[in-house]
Amino acid sequence: MTTSVVFHTYKTNVNSHKSSFRAGRFPEFIRNGLISFFFPAVCPICKGELPPEGPPWICAACRADLAKPMDGELDDYRRDCDKFPLVTFYTRFDYDEGAGEVIRQIKYRERRALLGIIAPSVAELAGVLAERYNLDMLLPVPLHRRKERERGFNQSALIAESVAAESGISCQVRAMGRAKYTKQQTRLKGDRRLANVSGAFVVRDAAAVTGRRILLLDDVITTGATAAHCVYALWAAGAEMVVVLGVAGADR
Ligand SMILES: [Zn+2]
Repeated sequence: MTTSVVFHTYKTNVNSHKSSFRAGRFPEFIRNGLISFFFPAVCPICKGELPPEGPPWICAACRADLAKPMDGELDDYRRDCDKFPLVTFYTRFDYDEGAGEVIRQIKYRERRALLGIIAPSVAELAGVLAERYNLDMLLPVPLHRRKERERGFNQSALIAESVAAESGISCQVRAMGRAKYTKQQTRLKGDRRLANVSGAFVVRDAAAVTGRRILLLDDVITTGATAAHCVYALWAAGAEMVVVLGVAGADR
């Protein structure tokens, strides 16, 4: 009995608290001022302090780190995905080394200004791959239309367009599509990821990919399942060669 009374009081408090902080009650600048006073902006990668909230959102040291030129051999950027031995994968960054955070910020917080930080580094590898494999076209892994509507954009397409602008390789954003709505891959494990994406991709414009040598761009490569099924669809549609380039490779 006592418990329920306490609970009821608590609920009432929560609600009245909420209504007194209704959106629009405080002018935007006061709200933002309060937020940055209590939660000073920190670099999401190194947790170092940042100037008040706003672009570029990542500290100069972390930006410089992501802009470092490639070192070593091209093979150092190759990634083997055991389940897809026929597919050639490369990744530019390790997910845990800051690039993962940049991708998350672009994807879930719509911080598109961050594209400018990773695109030149990805474009550098894209250029080397284009030369090595004689590739002439960039293609992003498509997002299902429903998901693209929900999110408002396809992060891989945005990255591909930036990379195309940097590298000079032409980009075809709409040549492929997704036939079925798949669950968010990060919530699924191993074989379930595989089942989730098999048959998920369709080539909408076969003429655009037939006989072409394609660099397929994905944001994050984990098991490789998503990109590999894209590659299979492209092969089936007559693409001469497909090489996968992931912005970041993640182990999970
Ligand atoms: Zn930092």
